Amino acid sequence: MIPVTAFSSYRIRTVRPGRAESGAGHPQQTYAESVTTNTASSAELGNRRILLVEDEETIAAVVRDYLVRAGFQVDTAGDGFTALEVATARTPDLVILDRMLPGLDGVEVCRRLRQTMSVPVIIVTALGTEDDRILGLEMGADDYVTKPFSPRELVLRVKSVLRRSIKDHTPEPAVQSAGLELDPASRTVTMLGSPLALTAREFDLLAFLMRRPNQVFSREELIKAVWGWDFGDLSTVTVHVRRLREKIEANPTKPELLKTVWGIGYRFDVPTEGKAEAVHGG
Ligand code: CA
Repeated sequence: MIPVTAFSSYRIRTVRPGRAESGAGHPQQTYAESVTTNTASSAELGNRRILLVEDEETIAAVVRDYLVRAGFQVDTAGDGFTALEVATARTPDLVILDRMLPGLDGVEVCRRLRQTMSVPVIIVTALGTEDDRILGLEMGADDYVTKPFSPRELVLRVKSVLRRSIKDHTPEPAVQSAGLELDPASRTVTMLGSPLALTAREFDLLAFLMRRPNQVFSREELIKAVWGWDFGDLSTVTVHVRRLREKIEANPTKPELLKTVWGIGYRFDVPTEGKAEAVHGG
């Protein structure tokens, strides 16, 4: 049973933009109008819809205000089941997902979102342990932020993740290799004709490597090129490589495509025809 009351109370609020307080504005200005007034400063990201999943109302209110002032449309949900319902109804461009939620926790919400959509997810975690971050990434999160966080930093992360997904919508040529077909226009990948369910970052990582076959990249290089981070937790790369292998390799423990080059990094191998058939044939 979905708690509809929570959905209603959290749904969409009419938010007065900060600039209206200068006097000449319209205090009753609706949210859609406030977005219009803000798009000039952030045209690239204008009108993007964020789903903010947070059970602590004070945090939700603060973060929502920051996002709205940055020009985003914001839906909020206070628990996991509501989050899934709102995500289905509103098809957000990005989800900010608190890790600890009543009922259905953030990791499970992320996992279920992944079954139906490839929306970028930023996990917000209060725990901040290595295990917790890796768990979030393994469940398909694209980024994570540790509580306590500065709302400004979170907004920057949101913009960074969105810019990446927008940039990726610029059509690039499709890539075919080793039974994999990667179509950047639709952001889909098939293996021998069967669609693969990849997260946004998994797609980005695979696309990057498939376009540069037989070249080795360190985790530092990959986190900069694929995530756009100048520094970051390198286990992020490790986790995504592992998840990709589970999806593209015939035997993920003995990868034939996404190879580890010990002490250096990772490489996408283009197998010879005979080898490809030996791996994937029959
Ligand atoms: Ca929480």
